[in-house]
Amino acid sequence: MDFSLSPEEARFRDQVRGWLRDNLDDRTREAAAGHDDIELRRDWQRRVHEAGFAGVSWPRELGGQGGTLMQEVIVNQEMAAARAPDMLNVIGLYMAGPTILAHGTPEQKARHIPPLLRADEIWCQGFSEPNSGSDLASLRTRAVIDGDDFVVSGQKVWTTLAHVSRWCILLTRTDSAETAHAGLTYLIVDMQSPGVEVRPLRQITGDAEFNEMYLTDVRVPRANLLGAVGGGWRVAMTTLMHERATLGVGLQVRSRIALDELRALARTTLVDGVPRSADPVVRQRIAQLVIEVEAMRINGLRGLSRVLQGEQPGPEGSVNKLMWSELNQRIAETALDLLGPYGTLAEGEERAPRNGRWAYGYLRSRANSIEGGTSEVLRNILAERVLGLPRGR
Ligand SMILES: Cc1cc2nc3c(=O)[nH]c(=O)nc-3n(C[C@H](O)[C@H](O)[C@H](O)COP(=O)(O)OP(=O)(O)OC[C@H]3O[C@@H](n4cnc5c(N)ncnc54)[C@H](O)[C@@H]3O)c2cc1C
Repeated sequence: MDFSLSPEEARFRDQVRGWLRDNLDDRTREAAAGHDDIELRRDWQRRVHEAGFAGVSWPRELGGQGGTLMQEVIVNQEMAAARAPDMLNVIGLYMAGPTILAHGTPEQKARHIPPLLRADEIWCQGFSEPNSGSDLASLRTRAVIDGDDFVVSGQKVWTTLAHVSRWCILLTRTDSAETAHAGLTYLIVDMQSPGVEVRPLRQITGDAEFNEMYLTDVRVPRANLLGAVGGGWRVAMTTLMHERATLGVGLQVRSRIALDELRALARTTLVDGVPRSADPVVRQRIAQLVIEVEAMRINGLRGLSRVLQGEQPGPEGSVNKLMWSELNQRIAETALDLLGPYGTLAEGEERAPRNGRWAYGYLRSRANSIEGGTSEVLRNILAERVLGLPRGR
């Protein structure tokens, strides 16, 4: 593995850095804290796209840049290092887009990819249902073929961004076939269709970034079928592989930054005039986190090397997702321990350190080990598919 940048790649990196220096201000950066300022984040994605840094490796005729995967990685790393906000259309860019590029018809690609890149149309992912999260193949939302349409009825849950989305990648059941996987069909659903109802769910952070979604006799034209009728599981696996792989891109850099902030916090938080960093137990906890961030970086490079050699994202994505979610929780927990009672003060409280950012980060991090595959399920995947251990069930 050689990850030193070629002269052109180094020039490209400098170009991205220069653009970020000139275009990223603190107000935009604050959106990175996770609060749901949708229009600010939409505007940010538009500007990133206009600068040529969205869909870097996607085809030019679809609004991408026709660049290399390495350039895509450089953009992600520089964005994370500059603490740029996450792109608004996360599901469009990192899940729906790659799935449409892999399985879509030319018409679907031409219709959906350009507005997705510009954040003109936001996407959501309707996979999870009450009682069908980890065991996705047990889902029950039905799609019945009626003439040129599918008629869809059922309920989805935890649908991130459904309240601002125009399109949904929806996994449905068209057949109660012998095996649960065989009867699934993957549809692209217009969220403005009659029969789609979205109800927000408020999270522990106070934000409402995800929703319940009710579908009652929603008519979806056959042209919006992605893949084959009954072939939805294969298409869904493309989405999930990209979800876990892209979750890993840039996350290591963000973990490194969070860790640096934690180290600064330990040096500047005083108890009886003594910095918390003088405590050997605190030093030990931070040293452990440094080791874990480094292990994650090296594992990320292993995954990247595989993809650069033209292979599909592999189980390294699951390793990094698992490492990142638990590491992020430990960094947030350590920060709250260092701050003592002040750490629990929320945004807007007079004495809240960093205006409650640590408290917010702690609460938001609880979801990290659930979203995109729970830690228990990822451990199962690693045990069975990487280590070849016998199946537990
Ligand atoms: C912030 C956030 C955003 C999300 N956004 C979306 C979205 O946009 N679209 C979407 O479709 N979904 C979304 N989800 C849903 C997410 O994918 C599911 O929550 C996740 O797959 C877990 O499913 P579940 O909640 O039904 O839990 P369950 O599957 O019911 O699991 C409950 C517990 O049992 C454990 N468990 C389950 N099966 C096993 C097993 N075989 N072995 C060991 N332990 C097991 C789990 O690890 C967990 O601890 C989001 C979730 C969160 C938290």
